[in-house]
Amino acid sequence: MSKIIASAAIRGAHKIVGRAETSLAKALEQHGPDKTIEFPNTGYFLPVIYGMTGMKAEKLGDLPKILKRTKSLLPPNPTEKVWLPYLGHTLDAGTATLFADEIIEVIKYLQDPVPYSMTENCPEDGNLWLGAADDVIMRKRGIEFVDGTAPGFAACVGACPTNEIAVKIARELQEKNLYVFMAADSHGKTMAEQLREEGVQMGWETRLIPFGKDVTSAIFAIGFATRAAMSFGGVKPGDYSKILKYNKNRVFAFVLALGEVDDEKYAQAAGVINYGFPTIADTDIPQILPTGVCTYEHVVSNIPHNRIVSKAIEVRGLKVQIHKVPVPVSYGPAFEGERVRKEDTFVEMGGTKTTAFEFATMRDMNEIEDGKINVVGPEIDDVEEGSRLPLGILVEVAGREFQSDFESIVERQIHRYLNEAQGVFHMGQRDINWIRVSKEAKQKGFKLHHFGDIIHAKMHADYSAILDKIQVTIYTKEEDVVARRDIARKAYHFRDERIGALTDESVDTFYSCTLCQSFAPNHVCVITPQRSGLCGAYNWLDGKAAYQIDPTGPNRPIAKGDTVDQKKGQWSGVNDFISQASRQNIERFNGYSIMEDPMTSCGCFECISGVLPMANAIMTVNREFAGMTPCGMKFSTLAGTVGGGLQTPGFTGHSKHYIGSPKYISAEGGLLRVAWMPKILKEELRPMIEKQAKALGVDNFYDMIADDETASTEEEVMEFMSKVNHPALTLPPLF
Ligand code: SF4
Ligand code: ZN
Repeated sequence: MSKIIASAAIRGAHKIVGRAETSLAKALEQHGPDKTIEFPNTGYFLPVIYGMTGMKAEKLGDLPKILKRTKSLLPPNPTEKVWLPYLGHTLDAGTATLFADEIIEVIKYLQDPVPYSMTENCPEDGNLWLGAADDVIMRKRGIEFVDGTAPGFAACVGACPTNEIAVKIARELQEKNLYVFMAADSHGKTMAEQLREEGVQMGWETRLIPFGKDVTSAIFAIGFATRAAMSFGGVKPGDYSKILKYNKNRVFAFVLALGEVDDEKYAQAAGVINYGFPTIADTDIPQILPTGVCTYEHVVSNIPHNRIVSKAIEVRGLKVQIHKVPVPVSYGPAFEGERVRKEDTFVEMGGTKTTAFEFATMRDMNEIEDGKINVVGPEIDDVEEGSRLPLGILVEVAGREFQSDFESIVERQIHRYLNEAQGVFHMGQRDINWIRVSKEAKQKGFKLHHFGDIIHAKMHADYSAILDKIQVTIYTKEEDVVARRDIARKAYHFRDERIGALTDESVDTFYSCTLCQSFAPNHVCVITPQRSGLCGAYNWLDGKAAYQIDPTGPNRPIAKGDTVDQKKGQWSGVNDFISQASRQNIERFNGYSIMEDPMTSCGCFECISGVLPMANAIMTVNREFAGMTPCGMKFSTLAGTVGGGLQTPGFTGHSKHYIGSPKYISAEGGLLRVAWMPKILKEELRPMIEKQAKALGVDNFYDMIADDETASTEEEVMEFMSKVNHPALTLPPLF
């Protein structure tokens, strides 16, 4: 390997560590050692430092010893004459750089105002830089790395020679489904600023994330990767070799060094080599060819812009899978979150402004013709810019293995399928859908006909095991839409009745989900008609369909077997299954109890319920709520306690929907045991809370639940409970 790069990286590391030292000294002088330091809303402290060393930094006063450790990693500052034969020195210098980055960045959060917008998406004209992702974002996005929706990320450092090249590289990465993390400038310019000048939408939704302008803000990408290893990989803080290994094996990331690479950037590159992330540069910098850490080369230089993305993918050893969808616009999950603003809209449909619906229905094999797509009524070319159209999307499907129960499952995908086309915006479902097609998409030749092409291509790709034929008809004349919508409405109603009538007792088979075992190896979700998967994404019908589609996949049928305990929800067949699927780590499981052998959690839960022991009650908190809860822990801290595939009596993770289920903690009194939840959650679930409480015989229960506005400690919850005469007061003791 090259001694030049080693010198540059070590020199750069010294510079960054020096900066960290100066800014820490200043901060200590200004705020004192007791000042709290944190990245917003995370349970992982300074994640890289925490992951690699296990050291928790909560106050400014914790940083000097971390800095000392950082400095101990630094090899001596090289003079031209020193020859460093081992990559090891460079890697240590790189690690020191990452620690120093994190110190510098967390101190920035003490500034007023904080230099980052701290939002999920870039405000349209406000601060472009998002800063560190909080745990909500990390969970939501990190799971995509686990389930394969996103293979990894590209950390883009610097800027491109022109805005046009910046947009091209960004689009190319998006089409490969990669996240694009942007940091650092090149002669004062950054890639993110180039994208903004071209009107590109940025933020987590579009997978284009501007972290910060400073080179040290590149650490947010590594912090994200490190948290993924702890959260999804179940790696213990401080187990640095596992953290690095997890990333090397599972997170397909690489660095694109755009523009001049100075010492500080070299130092960052050295830091990420530890994670197995190679650097690909567009300039002529010294290469580091294979030496054993990254899969192939470590640093590859002088790659032209039109080849840089494919080169990076090759060097990282990434296999990208894309199903070609025949549309004249870019297509892929990175475009799913893109909005089409009113002023950019060519034509708009539904959204209460026109009649609209979308409906998938089962037909006999000989009734339909696969791939037949018809537009009945005006096409996009027949209307003026700014028009509105009624819209009916009728998807007729047939397949030997298809069952009418699966209609709602395939229909629900229309939302994602259409959204993934660049310039198409879709919201809602059934007869409350809302669609916009942008002027740009129209100009590129997008037609309403393409809705059909997309649905046809994607449904075949995703559901080949159950679907043989897919025919799509698009209606745009009012009378046609109304007539078909009324038929669809009858079917929606019928489906709701059917799913509502399904109870745990009415079936003899549940379904498992072990999708999350890739990062929580012993976790099993048991999905019953009245309890969906804890991530909220899979219900019993989904499990049933998924098994049909892929019998060797993560969803398997579980024969209930004999009932061991009706009240707690324990069945012999389920116990057997859990024991085997958890590799004998879990022997028993109670579906309806939080106190005794509750279901395990992987970490994807939408909510966590936990006992308030003095109040003899239960609180439940949702992931989006960042505040403190009456049990003395924030969601992020609770999540660390409950996750990882363990049974934690007194706590359980679950979906939002489960709160309204008659089986929710029914062994301990069910919903009536709940004394506190955040106001936002309470409001979101209002109809189901009222319905279920009524079924349990309490009419005004909604107002008896304390929330973050009325109680923040367990004592205050108890006061509130006695004030409203909460039903849990008369329930048997939990302990
Ligand atoms: Fe993971 Fe459970 Fe959701 Fe399956 S249902 S993806 S195991 S959280
Ligand atoms: Zn999970």
